[in-house]
Amino acid sequence: MSSSVLWGEGYGDVFSLTRQKNTRSVEYKQSGWKLDVKTKKHLTFTDKKGIGRLKLVGSRDIYFYNESDIKRVRLIRRADGYYCQFCISVDVKQESEPTGKAVGLDVGLKFLYVDNFGHTEENPKFYRQAEKRLKKLQKQVSRKFKKRTAHGEVSSPCGRSKKGQPVSNNYLRAKNRLARLHLKVSRQREEHSKKLARCVVTSNDVVAYEDLQIKNLVKNHHLAKSINDAGWYQLRKWIEYFGVKFGKITIAVPPQWTSQECSNCGNIVKKTLSTLTHQCSCGLTICRDENAARNILKKGLTTVGHTGSWLENSLNALGEDTPTLAQVIVSEQVTS
Ligand SMILES: [Zn+2]
Repeated sequence: MSSSVLWGEGYGDVFSLTRQKNTRSVEYKQSGWKLDVKTKKHLTFTDKKGIGRLKLVGSRDIYFYNESDIKRVRLIRRADGYYCQFCISVDVKQESEPTGKAVGLDVGLKFLYVDNFGHTEENPKFYRQAEKRLKKLQKQVSRKFKKRTAHGEVSSPCGRSKKGQPVSNNYLRAKNRLARLHLKVSRQREEHSKKLARCVVTSNDVVAYEDLQIKNLVKNHHLAKSINDAGWYQLRKWIEYFGVKFGKITIAVPPQWTSQECSNCGNIVKKTLSTLTHQCSCGLTICRDENAARNILKKGLTTVGHTGSWLENSLNALGEDTPTLAQVIVSEQVTS
């Protein structure tokens, strides 16, 4: 039995706090704050930053945890208020029966993901609805942003943007509306990802997916795609969380060649982004995302096969038959 440190989901714990300038979050370790012993509904900050005593108004209850279990406290400013997150050290492990199944997930161009059996997981409806509204609000924000005139004069400037241009109250209000919608979408996605991830993890022993880099997400300006990517990162976070909780194996594999390689014969079949079908000379013709998902699963199982010296030695003795061997190892790990 090992305990792991995981961030408790503290959203819902809003409290009123006067606006601090230029800070989005403050983090405390085990000192500098005190939880009200009786109610556990009040948090007092004892350092000299002047935050003082705060009331926790959310529905999440930290009553069941000891104060010593709380390893860190983080205050976050969001578009609709202030939030407190508690990092709690708890034993989240839960025993589960091995399923004898492994799955590979590919982030589709159109879908949230496609697995190696060809199952496609659609993006939930709120993606598309939100997309339209986000675009509209974004337009309003840019319209209200006043550009500096040739003489550097702007009517009724009320603040300054990051780059130093004066901005109006109307601009700030529009910006807040946009930020609130982003927040709403992100919360809906969070709930959806959580449900989905729990389902994927509990119905498999091994989950393999691509190790996509966060910087690619930031660079991506196309709205639909970036919403999809962001959804994927949340899903991945929850898959890894439930992986720890249920003692399952989750593997992030390097994304190189997963879409180009043939999952049947290993040949490279060049594709552009618009090629939707994988068609190989070996006779395999399937959806490109399904082919990628199969490659991801293969890669994942091979990666599992490379951990531990005992395994490495046996690999040398047994040759290239890694997927089968890895599956054996996996089921041992799950049952022990
Ligand atoms: Zn092939």
